[in-house]
Amino acid sequence: MEQNKHEEEEVCCSDYNNKLPPLSAKYPWFVVQNLENLTHQLFSTLHDPLLKHHVESLSCPGNLVSVQTVTKHLKFLTEIVKADLASKTLTSAAEEIFKYEVLIIATGSTVFRLDDFSIEGADSKNIFYLREIQDADKLVEAIQNKKDGKALVVGGGYIGLELNAALIINNFHVSMVYPEPWCMPRFFTADMAAFYEGYYTKKGVNIIKGTVAAGFISDENGEVKQVKLKDGRVEDADIVVVGVGAKPLINLFRGQVKEEKGGIKVYLHF
Ligand SMILES: Cc1cc2nc3c(=O)[nH]c(=O)nc-3n(C[C@H](O)[C@H](O)[C@H](O)COP(=O)(O)OP(=O)(O)OC[C@H]3O[C@@H](n4cnc5c(N)ncnc54)[C@H](O)[C@@H]3O)c2cc1C
Repeated sequence: MEQNKHEEEEVCCSDYNNKLPPLSAKYPWFVVQNLENLTHQLFSTLHDPLLKHHVESLSCPGNLVSVQTVTKHLKFLTEIVKADLASKTLTSAAEEIFKYEVLIIATGSTVFRLDDFSIEGADSKNIFYLREIQDADKLVEAIQNKKDGKALVVGGGYIGLELNAALIINNFHVSMVYPEPWCMPRFFTADMAAFYEGYYTKKGVNIIKGTVAAGFISDENGEVKQVKLKDGRVEDADIVVVGVGAKPLINLFRGQVKEEKGGIKVYLHF
């Protein structure tokens, strides 16, 4: 009976604007081709005792819905533009209305952009961010157009390090700038970072620590040419890639939830 009751409920998986989340070069096609199998795997994880406990503690029975029901109700390319938590209602851009019993918010995050901080020239051409597949496509195009050029990577985290490697492989002269004393400071110890910094330096990366990008100078076409650093140095760059972190996408829920550290305050973690 319990199973039947939940089979009637709507399960909504929306992915708006055809925007593909990261890690997803092949993911959408994998999902489409393996939808039934994937959904089965996803929901079977809820039989895991620990997860089951968490799900039950959210007043949601562990054995959620049949695979057929889930696949029937998956919604792609549907942007939710309004969420009313009081009436448990979501509204899509196409004005479709969804009622829910339990809402799982998994809207991900969006990158911090330097124009958010009013940094001079941050809207110049050839300054890139990396979050979605479309961002990667634009960057690849610029790498091809600026062959063997100069690149400056802003940020010494995962994105910064990975982009450095990609740019070096593509024969760019690369500089990387970050304010911390070593790269990936939230994850690496100084010793671990020293190994990677040595490796990158050997590959030709110019690592600039203890300062940040403070402005960009562009040419008459609006294309970035130089980066001004806060410590007064100026670096040449045909391409700038910025990886300075991300912030949770919670606009839909503002004013309806408690916020903490830029995200939604939750009372337990999986
Ligand atoms: C370039 C890059 C490489 C990465 N590499 C790795 C890696 O190798 N390993 C690793 O563990 N992590 C990696 N990460 C981090 C990882 O991608 C994220 O931690 C992960 O995607 C977060 O998952 P999520 O489900 O919270 O958000 P997302 O994957 O961003 O998914 C959010 C989803 O919500 C949808 N959405 C948002 N707003 C709405 C709305 N209003 N209506 C409907 N749908 C909406 C979006 O379209 C999207 O489908 C990488 C990140 C980037 C940017």
